[in-house]
Amino acid sequence: AKRVYAFEEGRADMKELLGGKGAGLAAMTAAGVPVPPGFTVTTEACRDYALSGGMLEEPLWAEIREALAVLEERGGQRLGDRADPLLVSVRSGAVVSMPGMMDTILNLGLNDETAEGLAAITGDERFAYDCYRRLIAMFGQVVLGVEGWRFERLLEARKEAAGAETDQQLSADDWRELALAYQQLVLRHAGRPFPQDVLEQLRLAVEAVFRSWDNPRARVYRSVNRIDGASGTAVTVQRMVFGNKGADCGTGVVFTRDPSTGEPGLYGEFLLNAQGEDVVAGVRTPQPIASLAEALPHAHAELDRWGRTLEERYGDMQDIEFTIERGRLFLLQTRTGKRGAQAALRIAVDLVREGRIAREEAVRRVELAHLEQLLHRGIDESAAAETLAKGLPASPGAAIGRAVFDADTAERWSRDGQPVILVRPETTPDDIHGVLAAEGILTSRGGMTSHAAVVARGMGKPAVCGCEALEVDAEAKRLAVRGSGAEAIAEGDWLTIDGGTGRVIAGRMPLREPAVTEELLQVLRWADELRLLEVHANADTPEDARAARRLGAQGIGLCRTEHMFFAPERLVVMQRMIAAETDEAREAALAELRPMQQADFEGLLEAMDGLPVTIRLLDPPLHEFLPGREELQRKLEAAAGAERAELEALLRRSDALREANPMLGQRGCRLGIMHPEIYRMQAEALCLAAAACAERGVDVRAEIMIPLVGEAAELGLLRAEVEAVAERLLPEALRRERPIRVGTMIEVPRAALTARRIAEHADFFSFGTNDLTQMTYGCSRDDAEGKFLARYVERKLLPFNPFQVLDEEGVGQLIRIATEAGRAARPGLKAGICGEHGGERDSIFFCHEIGLDYVSCSPYRIPMARIAAAQAAL
Ligand code: ADP
Ligand code: MG
Ligand code: MG
Repeated sequence: AKRVYAFEEGRADMKELLGGKGAGLAAMTAAGVPVPPGFTVTTEACRDYALSGGMLEEPLWAEIREALAVLEERGGQRLGDRADPLLVSVRSGAVVSMPGMMDTILNLGLNDETAEGLAAITGDERFAYDCYRRLIAMFGQVVLGVEGWRFERLLEARKEAAGAETDQQLSADDWRELALAYQQLVLRHAGRPFPQDVLEQLRLAVEAVFRSWDNPRARVYRSVNRIDGASGTAVTVQRMVFGNKGADCGTGVVFTRDPSTGEPGLYGEFLLNAQGEDVVAGVRTPQPIASLAEALPHAHAELDRWGRTLEERYGDMQDIEFTIERGRLFLLQTRTGKRGAQAALRIAVDLVREGRIAREEAVRRVELAHLEQLLHRGIDESAAAETLAKGLPASPGAAIGRAVFDADTAERWSRDGQPVILVRPETTPDDIHGVLAAEGILTSRGGMTSHAAVVARGMGKPAVCGCEALEVDAEAKRLAVRGSGAEAIAEGDWLTIDGGTGRVIAGRMPLREPAVTEELLQVLRWADELRLLEVHANADTPEDARAARRLGAQGIGLCRTEHMFFAPERLVVMQRMIAAETDEAREAALAELRPMQQADFEGLLEAMDGLPVTIRLLDPPLHEFLPGREELQRKLEAAAGAERAELEALLRRSDALREANPMLGQRGCRLGIMHPEIYRMQAEALCLAAAACAERGVDVRAEIMIPLVGEAAELGLLRAEVEAVAERLLPEALRRERPIRVGTMIEVPRAALTARRIAEHADFFSFGTNDLTQMTYGCSRDDAEGKFLARYVERKLLPFNPFQVLDEEGVGQLIRIATEAGRAARPGLKAGICGEHGGERDSIFFCHEIGLDYVSCSPYRIPMARIAAAQAAL
């Protein structure tokens, strides 16, 4: 098979074969974009290379030589030609973009002779030797494994000797000597010389790029981003263009829209008189792209024009690398730009409005992680706090953590449960595990397109970059504000950063709730038009209900009434009710609880006016409302008289109620059956609340949900009791128009298996997937999560924690069986889930797939659930 493609031979849809970069270069070439010519070796060749145990086989090498010959022919320059040498870059390019994770070598083709030739033909010795020393350093690192800091140290020493502050101030002789010193360095540390044979350079470089697919940082990046390990990298060989030839040259990176806000128009950075990675590496802090319009207006206009063309072709915001050689613009890479959460929504909405994409596509493109970030918090600006410094708002969201100054510490502390902010002068791909572990990232150097910024945005991590007011001393583990007497921040000190504004504050700051933007609302409206699943909320209080409704809840899918009894003033009444030894005493306590419960329900019904409110009757075992035995005993010792008698009664009850396995004990409907007066009180409170609300003009849609049913007769009995109450307390008209519907939770496997009979008594099913998961696995969540479950997942005995992601194979099957059986008995039976899975993407997809009517989740997950439900439907 063909394994080398000239740019002219490739196509945009050949990403699998040519990698993202190769396919992009081919597509740009086809579109007439000014791209230096070159060719790409396929990912397949990379896989062959790995399979052959790291041998670049002759036929492939011959193919490469052939493509090189064509390249030489076209440009009239030859690799290794002493008079006018062709120089190339050898670039990595995986199928899925992995910015900076693999290796690239620039200026290949220089040796002692061609460097001389380049100097002669360009008349610029300084330039020639700048290129040469760069090649030796890159080649030394990438191919021969010499550490980068060794080269840097030599460079610093050279600068010091020359009395130079910046690279720019070094002379041709400085670079020449550095090139020599670098060669000696390579020989010393790699045990072999930097190759003077340019074909050997090329061959070794191609092999090294192949190998870079498997370097540790690339592997970490892939595992974090779940990129399949088998595909390999393509290798692009491309004629060099030079941004380091003088003041009318430069290099940079632009986005076609602002990657933080999404605002249309070029956004990015460049450096005059610089080459390649200078911008990304954060060596010098670059200038904003707008100033290119002043420095080189023609190139800026061209860049803008091609940016638009590429955006049009790809239907999305692009991230473009460019180089300007003597005023002429060349594009070197284009790819879909990574963006922050806010920008992602803004861009998607704008593209729909500009007619470039359909609203389905906009919804499909929403990344749920982004949404989460957007719904994350920022620093509360009203809280008075001295800003320590302000950097670039590189990735939005606020983060609080302890300052750490290296990736390993970040990882270790975070594993120990300490939130950390990773503080670095700049990050490199080797820091990736630290970035991953940190709550947020702070760098003192580098721009919006620096490594730290790009990676943080991709991960949805808050980041403040290029905060030059800060002096970060990674070795001494401290950071200080330049030129200020203010106390330095040391390792372990608290820091708050806001990647949305760029603020850095010492200490821990209060955070503000997220703002729901117009774009988010628009995307949510589109999602609502596209989804089939309804999204309800798990809410126990009117405040929660109102918040849920604002976030788009279509009802309350689960109100856990036990939460209403844990307030201190109610708990005592509840305890009195539980301890009551006579019917009268119990009735008296219940009579006290009833109006409280009624008020709760009224609040909920009012908040959800017109939407269903599902009230689950008391579920936990009664002893959960009682103080612990030891506490009781202690109180008893100190008490006397009536109080003592009361405590004694409580203790007796507590002993009587104790269970060996409370999770499997007298709870849920079992409680309702053993203590009918409790459920009766709750049903009465709901009927009275419904009547009172209806009186006030509220559109009441109340539902009662019976928990933990395992046998149809249980539900039959309890339903009859609820209906009797309704008969008694619900006004006739209301009973006709808005009857209180009675349904059940399916959370015991037996209920799922006998769903057909249960459905005869149920107006709806709500799968309580937390309990259903516990009971299906026969494992208690509280005991499992802290202990063996994590180990199970680590050892791949389970693919994931089933309490987070619904287990489709087991629990899901029960849900499927029960839904089908229930609907067979009662066509149109409403069914949904109300466990924590209701707010989890994969579980939502599953619910959609099996045709449930709704998911119910905690209020703040609702926007996410709305989008996920729409994506499931697309
Ligand atoms: P990465 O995938 O890490 O971005 P690239 O292959 O894109 O690596 O190259 C790194 C840098 O070198 C980029 O700034 C790129 O624009 C520059 N570069 C690559 N090839 C050339 C070339 N032929 N001429 C000039 N600059 C180049
Ligand atoms: Mg690149
Ligand atoms: Mg339950």
